[in-house]
Amino acid sequence: MTDPTTDDLECREVVEVVTDYLEGAMAPGDRLRFDDHLALCEDCQAYLEQMRTVIRVAGRPVADAVPPETMAGLLRAFRDWRR
Ligand SMILES: [Zn+2]
Repeated sequence: MTDPTTDDLECREVVEVVTDYLEGAMAPGDRLRFDDHLALCEDCQAYLEQMRTVIRVAGRPVADAVPPETMAGLLRAFRDWRR
């Protein structure tokens, strides 16, 4: 895990804001931190790619395309990667 005393984005925050990122709804400052984290974190790159695939297949914004239970499953899988 990242050091909580820095203001670097953590992986769990990436998961929380990924839909905003993909929909372009993120504040510029947050987006910068997101991109910074992504550049260094292969897990989050893989996660983002996974979400992009979901959107491409569904043809809809991710918030509509991914049912809550599916999202919960993705988040669980994502947490498992970090162990
Ligand atoms: Zn990460």
